[in-house]
Amino acid sequence: MSKITYLDYQATTPVDQEVLHAMLPYFSQSYGNPSSSHFYGIEALQVVEEAKSYVANFLEAKPYEIFFTSGSTEGNNLALKGVVRKKEASHIITVSTEHKSILDVCKQLETEGHSVTYLKPNPQGLIALEDMRKAINKNTIIISVMYGNNEIGTIQDIKEIGKIARENNVIFHCDATQGIGYEKIDVTDCGIDILTFSSHKIYGPKGIGIIFINNKLIDKKFISSEIQGGNQQRNMRSGTYNVPSIVGFSKAIELVKNNRDDNRINTLNLRHILLEKIMAETDCILNGSLQCRLPNNINVSLKGIDGQKFMEMISDRLAISNGSACNSGSQKPSYVLEAIGVPPNLIQSSFRISLGRPTTEEEVFECAETMISTYKKLYRIK
Ligand code: PMP
Repeated sequence: MSKITYLDYQATTPVDQEVLHAMLPYFSQSYGNPSSSHFYGIEALQVVEEAKSYVANFLEAKPYEIFFTSGSTEGNNLALKGVVRKKEASHIITVSTEHKSILDVCKQLETEGHSVTYLKPNPQGLIALEDMRKAINKNTIIISVMYGNNEIGTIQDIKEIGKIARENNVIFHCDATQGIGYEKIDVTDCGIDILTFSSHKIYGPKGIGIIFINNKLIDKKFISSEIQGGNQQRNMRSGTYNVPSIVGFSKAIELVKNNRDDNRINTLNLRHILLEKIMAETDCILNGSLQCRLPNNINVSLKGIDGQKFMEMISDRLAISNGSACNSGSQKPSYVLEAIGVPPNLIQSSFRISLGRPTTEEEVFECAETMISTYKKLYRIK
């Protein structure tokens, strides 16, 4: 079988070779538990502290504001549950196109007596800041808006949202899982109080993530932990440190930092080529704003074809996604596309193509050729 071109980097990324090499010694050579007080423990703790400092620097935060989690799902759960459950009848503001690890938590919190405003984006996927201002009430405790949508790539105006939150004394949480690889996010500058992201979207190992929590929230006890146990990580997140993954994650962040600008430009160029070709040769609609968009994301609806059949026909050449991979367990139409008003017949024929650091021009041509020829075949069959 010929190689299947992988263009699903928003679902996950391969571990970078440099990351892998950095991790290897921490499985069976330097395997100490950072909580142990002997040589092996001290050695491991030092590595963890270095990683924390590195990440803190990356976000313009303090090392004691960084906590390792198992990924963004855990981080998002902690951000919302940890804050909202501190008070009775809290109010949350979020967006109807957020990741399920936000929306499902919101649903849960609603059953506990809290309330949620789900802001509706426009057809471009963008929310109106005026709607956010209007939604704030005396019980509003947290605003949660992602940086870069996982399905349509839309980037919201994070800085302005941060300002609104500050002006109204509301905590601002940002799920930066999809954006962190492409944009510098300075938590102070953006007014972000809590930030979450995950290693496996930036060429690090799976099963590890970060939550940044502004120290003021911890000092003032505005947030409580969700996982209790061995008191690690200032009691905010107990559990033995996953040292190899922490090392790998930190290396992955270093690579993002060193390559971010080049990577963004390169990815944008490749996406431009791919999108132009698909738009020129098929009857399709681009879902979501082109301007306010992650550089690696394309989401198109190919008109008049059977999406399932299309996926079957490309499956031996192309790995892309129809709907979000995070929701692939469900057969329901994409709620993100529904939220921006894409009609059901087009949702079923919508595809997310996401480019990555290893993507080459050759792969982009291969993808365009496969998409276009399959589209033409299916259109004719119809
Ligand atoms: N938020 C966003 C925006 C995501 O794209 C994802 C992963 N698809 C998550 C949260 C969940 O991340 P994790 O896989 O690390 O739990």
